[in-house]
Formats: sequence, C-alpha cells, structure tokens
Amino acid sequence: MEFINLNKVKSWAKEYNGDYSMYFPKDIEDIKSLISNNKTIISAGGFRSYGDSAISNYIINSKHFNKIIDFDEKNGILKVQSGVNLDQLINFIVPKGWFLSVTPGTKYATVGGCIASDVHGKEHHKYGCFSECLQKIKLLINENEIVEFNKKSHHDLFCATCGGMGLTGFIIEAEIKCKKIKSNQIQFKKILSNRLENIFSTFEKYHDYDYSVAWIDTIKNNGDYRSIFNCGNFSNNLDLSFPKKKRNNINIPFKIKIINKFTIKFFNKFYFFLNKFTKKSGTIFFDKFFYPLDKIKNWYRLYGKNGFIQYQFVIPKSNSIQAITEILDFINTSGVFSSLAVLKLHSKENKNYISFPIEGYSLAMDFPISNKISKILKKIDELVLHHGGKIYLTKDSILDENNFKKFYPNHGEVKKVVKKYKISKFNSFQSLRIGIND
Ligand SMILES: Cc1cc2nc3c(=O)[nH]c(=O)nc-3n(C[C@H](O)[C@H](O)[C@H](O)COP(=O)(O)OP(=O)(O)OC[C@H]3O[C@@H](n4cnc5c(N)ncnc54)[C@H](O)[C@@H]3O)c2cc1C
Repeated sequence: MEFINLNKVKSWAKEYNGDYSMYFPKDIEDIKSLISNNKTIISAGGFRSYGDSAISNYIINSKHFNKIIDFDEKNGILKVQSGVNLDQLINFIVPKGWFLSVTPGTKYATVGGCIASDVHGKEHHKYGCFSECLQKIKLLINENEIVEFNKKSHHDLFCATCGGMGLTGFIIEAEIKCKKIKSNQIQFKKILSNRLENIFSTFEKYHDYDYSVAWIDTIKNNGDYRSIFNCGNFSNNLDLSFPKKKRNNINIPFKIKIINKFTIKFFNKFYFFLNKFTKKSGTIFFDKFFYPLDKIKNWYRLYGKNGFIQYQFVIPKSNSIQAITEILDFINTSGVFSSLAVLKLHSKENKNYISFPIEGYSLAMDFPISNKISKILKKIDELVLHHGGKIYLTKDSILDENNFKKFYPNHGEVKKVVKKYKISKFNSFQSLRIGIND
C-alpha cells in the first residue's frame, strides 16, 4: 500500500494545514488492516467537497479503486469501483450513447464521493439525487465484513450510506443505471432577467426541461437582483463523437487574491452585459454545459491565502422567494459579498437520513474567508432554519452541532445504523465538529 505524510490537504475551497497520513490502498485487505489499527479514519475520493468532510488525520484515498468493472450496454447498467471519477465514466459511456442519470457540476468527483454526498445536479427537479440511479453498493463496514446491498435489501444501511458523508464505511463498488442519449450536444435556452421574482417563474415555466440552473448576481442592482437562467435537453442530432483534441484546463499556479468586492462587481456587470449579446438558444457540447468550473484547477487560490467557503442552502418552495430575497438583502447590508451564486430547482426529498435536497430552491454562494464571514453565516443559518430549510454538508466547513441537528432531524438514524451493523468508527473533521457519529 502506498502511504504519504502530508502537512497540508486541499479541499476544493481551501487548504487544511496539519499532520496527515494519506493511504492509497491497493485492495480490500489493505483497508481492513488500516481499520483494525483503530485510528480515526475517513475515506476520500477526488477532494471535490468544499470543506472538511473528507479530511481527518488518517485518510483512505480511493485512487487505486479506479476500474470500470462491467457495462451492460443494452440496459445501461455500469459496475464500477468507487474511485472511478465521472470524467472516466463519461469518456467511456458517451460514445456508446449513454450518460449519467445524475451528475454534479464537477466531473472530477468519484463515484464513492457522489454516493456519500448523494449529489444532485441540474436535473434534480426531474430525476432526483445520485442514489436514485444506484442499483447496488458494495461497502466495507469493518475489518471483517463487506455488505452488498440495495435500497430494498438493507433499506436502513442504504439510507445512511447515501448522503452519509462516508460514515458507514468504505464504498468499494457500485452499480449505476445510466441514461440513454442520442447526442453529445445539449439544446439550450438562456433567459436574462433584472428581477429576482422572475427567475422563480422562469424555473417553473421551463420545468419540463431535463436540466435547469441560474446564475444570480447577489450584488443589488437598481433595487433588485439580476439573473441568467439556462435550461436544456440532450439534442437528438445523432452525434456521439468526442473532439480529438481536449482543451487543457487552466491552473492557478499560486495564491493571488484577485477576488474582492470591486472585481466581483465589475465581473458580474460584464458577465450579464456579455450575455445580452450572446446566443439565447442553440446547441452546446455537454461538457461545457455541465462542468464549466472544471476548466480552472486550484480555483481557491484566486481567493488568496485563506481560500473560500461555499454556503448552499435549500428552502421549501412555499417560502423560497421570500427567504431568498431576505437572505440576499441581509448579505447586501452585512459588509460581505458572494463571488458566485447558483440557484437550482429541486423536487421531493428522498428517504436518505441526511441527504440535502427538499422540494424547493437551493442557492449556493461562494464567500472569500474573512474575519466576519462565520458570524454572518451563523445569522443566515437562523434565517434558513426559520424558513424550514437546511444547508448542504458536502459544501460545509463551519456548521455547528446545534444547528446541524436542527437542520437534519433524522441524524440519529445514522448513528443507529452504525451501531446495528457494528460499523467501525469512520470520522472526518466535519463529522466530529457537527457530532453526527459521536
Ligand atoms: C466545481 C464543483 C461543482 C460541484 N457541483 C455540485 C453539484 O452540482 N451538486 C452536488 O451535489 N455537488 C457538487 N459539488 C460537490 C461534489 O460533487 C461532492 O463534494 C462530491 O462528494 C465530491 O466527490 P469526491 O470524490 O471529490 O469526494 P471527496 O471530496 O473526496 O469526499 C466527499 C465525501 O465523500 C466521502 N467519500 C469519498 N469516497 C468515499 C468512499 N470510497 N467510501 C465512502 N465515502 C467516501 C468522503 O468521506 C466525504 O465525506 C461540486 C464540487 C465542485 C468542485
């Protein structure tokens, strides 16, 4: 087994300094021996989570669990190891006329990470979370035992594992149901608005599109908030080819604080203005539509030495307009600003104990880390709680135990499952902070 000592580990949003041992097991026996050492360990995949959910002093990295085991091309059932990332998967299945039923906004997340965070994407209002397309999970729960299960066979273990942030064991393999496509192009539509209220009616109007998402300018402009709505479906144009030459991603080589209130204000104005003159409908390569942020590697370095925080909350539909307006107004008077904000529509919640989406709207906002930000976000926690919402754990780095337990009233079920199945203690800095598994 490969092993390295590190004095920093990177999540997508910041660096964590300390003493870390990162293990790269080659097989299950390696993981069993790590578990039997009785250390506090956590599994990790692509480190595309924004906070400390994949961070602990002892980390098991799934890098070597990177095989596509089998693909039933007739029914679109993919059997893969947990460390396979979505980039690998789509390169394999798109030319065969299949796509992921559910995908987050990064293709560098692994299958294990997608299950543990029960990720959602631009399709949630129609197809739900990642767990909805999961047919089977193979999970190492302690040094002796591997369980293979699905939603029916071990309902409680399934509900605790999907969205359970790695606390029920190491996900070894999974079977995923894919979605049939005829083209690698998305037929898109784009709508600009100067009023926040309009964006909600636009989402509802275009509800039948498979994919929808909106960019929001969170800096108030003429007393309101601008937005750019995008929706789309896979085209029927029968082209499944991949471009021969892949464009390289841009790497931010060092920390340089470019993102500040002035540059964001300027960027938002420019971006909105530019979009007035670009195509309002047409086709776009799927990669550009789903994964625009993957083009920039080490994005957090643009925020200077501290990095940033992403805060994603969801509010039930009945309160969404009021709550989101209230929260944006609060941010505009609080002296902080969000550099990037994305709004999504969600369908009904699933039964998983600590999955994030509920029927309503979620807003994800990036904030540069500053002295003020924790206090401001605590106040926003109160607004989210008041409006019956919750915040997303895979983006979190500062939530406290008290609020976590209010946001996720079923959290105790995860602990019950850990006890019932005699699962070894898996803990991240996050799980210890918010007391999920203590
Ligand atoms: C640009 C960008 C866009 C994103 N867009 C979205 C989005 O639209 N929707 C969304 O839901 N998320 C989104 N995310 C978040 C991301 O999809 C999730 O954080 C996902 O879990 C990351 O997968 P990973 O492999 O990097 O996991 P990591 O960050 O390494 O780990 C995340 C969690 O998964 C657990 N885990 C990882 N591997 C295993 C395993 N083998 N066994 C058990 N547990 C494991 C870890 O313990 C941890 O709790 C985005 C992230 C980025 C960077």
